[in-house]
Amino acid sequence: MPIVARNDRDGIAVLTWDQPGAPVNTKTRAAQEELAQQLEAALADDIVLGIVLASGKRGFVAGGDLRDLQRVTDPAEATALVEAVRAVMRRMEKGGKPIVAAINGAAMGGGVELALACHARVAASDALLGLPEVTLGLMPGAGGTQRLPRLIGVGPALDLLTGGKPVDAVAALEMGLVDRVVPRDDLLDAAIALARATRPVQPWDRVGAKPQAADAALFAKARAQCARRSGIADIAEAAILDVIETGLAQPFEAALETERRAFAGLVVSATAKNRIRLHFALNDARAIKGRPQGEPPYHLRSVAVVGGGTMGGGIAFTAAAAGLAVTLIEVGDEALARGLAAIAKTGERQVKAGRMTPADRDAVLARIKGQTGYAGLAEVDAGIEAVVEVEAVKAAVLRQLSAAIRPGGPVASNTSTLPITTLAGYCADPEVFIGAHFFGPVERMPLVEVICGARTSEATLARTLDLLKLLRKTPIVVQDGLGFYTSRVVASYTGEAMTLLGEGVSAGQIDRVATEFGMVIGPCAMNDMTGLPLLIDIFSSVRSDDTRVSNRGNRAVEVLQALVEAGRTGRRDGAGIYDYAEGKPVSWGGLAALFPRQGAAMPDAEIRKRLMHAQALETVRAMEEGILANATDADVGSVLGWMFPRGFGGVLSYVDTIGARRFVAECDALAAAYGGRFEAPQSLRDMAARDGRFHAL
Ligand code: NAD
Repeated sequence: MPIVARNDRDGIAVLTWDQPGAPVNTKTRAAQEELAQQLEAALADDIVLGIVLASGKRGFVAGGDLRDLQRVTDPAEATALVEAVRAVMRRMEKGGKPIVAAINGAAMGGGVELALACHARVAASDALLGLPEVTLGLMPGAGGTQRLPRLIGVGPALDLLTGGKPVDAVAALEMGLVDRVVPRDDLLDAAIALARATRPVQPWDRVGAKPQAADAALFAKARAQCARRSGIADIAEAAILDVIETGLAQPFEAALETERRAFAGLVVSATAKNRIRLHFALNDARAIKGRPQGEPPYHLRSVAVVGGGTMGGGIAFTAAAAGLAVTLIEVGDEALARGLAAIAKTGERQVKAGRMTPADRDAVLARIKGQTGYAGLAEVDAGIEAVVEVEAVKAAVLRQLSAAIRPGGPVASNTSTLPITTLAGYCADPEVFIGAHFFGPVERMPLVEVICGARTSEATLARTLDLLKLLRKTPIVVQDGLGFYTSRVVASYTGEAMTLLGEGVSAGQIDRVATEFGMVIGPCAMNDMTGLPLLIDIFSSVRSDDTRVSNRGNRAVEVLQALVEAGRTGRRDGAGIYDYAEGKPVSWGGLAALFPRQGAAMPDAEIRKRLMHAQALETVRAMEEGILANATDADVGSVLGWMFPRGFGGVLSYVDTIGARRFVAECDALAAAYGGRFEAPQSLRDMAARDGRFHAL
């Protein structure tokens, strides 16, 4: 079967790329070779006046083959990968015949680069064009960073290349990325017509085309934005800015060479390996590849949600948005009215943000029915409990909920800390009980930590995963244990920040180190948002088991108690670790008196290791205890749950990035200086001794 077929129409050769047996066209080696041959034949054929490049798929070209790239560890191999395609593109540009791209559906990465090497582009109205390489720790390697700014101008090119977000056909037309937009059915005719009317010369190959001086102010602004949003592992965006700026001042061929060298450097970088691995891991998690096989699919039509507060309201809204009939149960009429009003507000926010039409919002709200008891639930397919974190309240709710819904339907608790195996005892049938730990705001956050108790059945797990798939959530499955996985690791992180605070390190320095590392928000600001009294409860319950290694030398609770005694309770009261001016944190002068500095100032690198190594160590302990099944779940949970920087690939890939041997040595030094919580678990020592890794690449 050919990959690229040729059909001639009135002197125009239409080359249709249609990868046999694949849902999308990707730039595999075979496809590129065949495209090159077909192009060469058409260029050499005297009856051909022009060429149209089209796709036989629903989308144009999805880009390069990431699995090929992931295997490359030698920069020379990376350059060789793009060498052939670069030569084909220059041949297209200088072959003397007009070439037009007919873009339908998605054109991503290498797909857009191919279109840029054509002399003109027509897009169907359903087209979506993007250069997402930066999100994979890469940059375009087939001339994209050089052709795009020369075609559409530096400003819009920087946006597309450093933001990584796709644009639709209309936006592409406005910015000059495509020359025409037509209805899908007219695409080929329009492309053929354009091929007749186009001159086969690229702007950068015109006689007299000169390198342009880059706009220094524009780059300064872009670099400032890059510094704000990149952590230390995110090297791709800065590299993209560099090659565009350097390349613009060079003749075109030299500019391509500049890009090629930088591209090769990124391909072999730990950042790209981490991000590409994570990309596949997230896809698998989204597709719920880990669902127990053999359990029949569970077709849900309805769900009961108990508790209409912050979390329950979000869960109810999300379930209704997924098309389920939702019964929301509250403790009384007043609480119910409050809960429903808050849900309506969530709908309003979705409309304002353009994520939902008013009509869709109305349909979603109409699917939510509120009540104050458990009547009429016999046909309901699943129950989710999200009432206050008090065991006695949850016990009463679970008794009633589990007796009221369809027998066999899963009953899930959104508890953050209470053991699932204990709560299961309150259900008529403990086998149907499971933990489903959502993250707020529920309608936006994809992660759900699913927790199996000792008696949770495989059928219940499968049914819960089917429910979460419907809700478009990304689950990880963990086993029961104090703080499960995510709460336990986050506590080790934010708790370490509190211990640092107690040693007199300033909140500003702690938070700056964390955000420079790549966390979205610093741990002190985050703790203020949670509220310090609540945090004392969370830490106390996570560390109530005194055998925990993570408690050794950990002073988080004492520090928080001192703050609360000083009247510092958190952001909501305008006074926490920080003071608040118009909602923004500003440093609080009393902190230094409450926690005087001990000894010399602590270097940033030491703080960084304490905050980040603590998370990885706690994750390894959770793995040793069987809470986590594998390193991939740990990494997915960390980037979705508490936004561990993606450039490190997640919390265990972070150890790989540092190298296990060095990581263990650093932990030994930390343990000697700050306490036993930094002692490396045995499995990690074993890994270090054999220079092992959590992930192959
Ligand atoms: P919340 O206080 O906002 O809401 C709790 C709701 O439960 C209230 O509306 C209350 O009226 C209702 N309620 C209390 N007793 C009830 C009863 N007997 N029957 C029916 N409704 C009852 O609390 P929240 O933040 O939504 O937390 C709910 C659960 O989710 C807790 O277990 C919490 O630990 C967990 N959780 C919270 C978060 C978070 O970020 N807030 C994140 C993950 C998990």
